[in-house]
Amino acid sequence: MKKLFKKLFLLNLLLLIFIGCSKDDLLTENESIPEIDSVFETLKAWGFSDHEIEDMGTYYLVDKDIVFYKNKKYHKPENSNTKQREHPNSVTINSIQVFINPGMNQAWRNASVDAINRWNNASSGLLLNITTTTANAHIEIMYDSQDPALTLAANVFGMGEFPATNGLPGTRIWINPDFNACSGAITQNMRISNVQHELGHNLGLTHTNQTFGSLIPGTPSTDAQSVMNGGQACTINNFSTGDFSAVAFLFPPLTPTGSSLVCNTSTAVYTIENSNIPLTWTTSSNLQILSSSNNSITVKPVNSSFNGSGFVQANSPTQNIRKDVWIGKAVVDYIEFGNGIGETDYFCSSHYGNTYDIFPRLSGTTHQIRLRRWPSLSIVYSPSTNYSGNSGTLNYTPSPGWYVFGIRRTNPCGTSEWFETEVEFVDCSNNEGGGEF
Ligand SMILES: [Zn+2]
Repeated sequence: MKKLFKKLFLLNLLLLIFIGCSKDDLLTENESIPEIDSVFETLKAWGFSDHEIEDMGTYYLVDKDIVFYKNKKYHKPENSNTKQREHPNSVTINSIQVFINPGMNQAWRNASVDAINRWNNASSGLLLNITTTTANAHIEIMYDSQDPALTLAANVFGMGEFPATNGLPGTRIWINPDFNACSGAITQNMRISNVQHELGHNLGLTHTNQTFGSLIPGTPSTDAQSVMNGGQACTINNFSTGDFSAVAFLFPPLTPTGSSLVCNTSTAVYTIENSNIPLTWTTSSNLQILSSSNNSITVKPVNSSFNGSGFVQANSPTQNIRKDVWIGKAVVDYIEFGNGIGETDYFCSSHYGNTYDIFPRLSGTTHQIRLRRWPSLSIVYSPSTNYSGNSGTLNYTPSPGWYVFGIRRTNPCGTSEWFETEVEFVDCSNNEGGGEF
């Protein structure tokens, strides 16, 4: 049997959503467990108990809503907790064409569009495009009655198809327009949420509340609000927080890679990996585009003496992905002073521990400080130390009076000019509560 497993590869399986009324509404229990075969053994290895596996002739019905065909082969599972799960077959493209069968009525066509929009608004690296031709469609949404090979039972709202081993999504979603098994009327939100659920199957999500599939890291251990819960066709309602995490795990958000620092006369390349989404690129006005392709851009500063912030941005049909960069040398816009007493606009000549904070906050910089006496401007303190970070403590106390405090910063592009600001040293020893002298 083990040898056999090794030779086999995964095939699709179909997954049914039944309504979650009561178990008795579903299929009758089959008391007799069938002969042991490889599919049955795999199901047992997944942790399903005998009473959860019903022999339906050509297939096993497991956990009331998953079909395992006896003539297909399935991989073994890895775990058995309850949380968002992924099918062993991953979708490896992230720009996917969806055909909405025009023979469906307006309500179902609109529901399909809205479900697609919910997926596109999930802030993942996935783009679902609506296509008007089946020729280039990866997924088709249709009524079961539009597929001569299939009829959904009256208590089945819809059915999806898991991804194939070729990295493409499941090809069809079947909708049952005659489904009317919820306690009240079928609402438009039910239609949208159920198409959304079936899209999840076609894109590689299994049921959150069932045991089939691999656990997705970073999702909650239980999730009653998951749109991917099985058997809840009448109550599922849009993505949960855990669902968003699961979608982002399967389709990581697009992120431009490349340096966050561009020196004045240098070029920099930014790339978005592993994406077939059509992208256009823009930049802040202080960067010019030297060349670009769909997934990459090369830029350089417009002005070789400019120091400051900028950005590069990849624009997809549904979102703009921006990366902030620093151009040129580090600058000092302003400094805030502290003296351990509470006031922030003067230093204390009576104690160490006067502090300063440099703005803007920049990573990867060092700085030097110096102090000049007012009004002679002679240097009274000028340590050679390169301090790291955006703040520091001044361990030097001159006599009270006015001084000029200077800072210059260094980053890999070079060292800035001195930035200077006036500061008064005050004898704080008799005024620990702070205040002006
Ligand atoms: Zn389902």
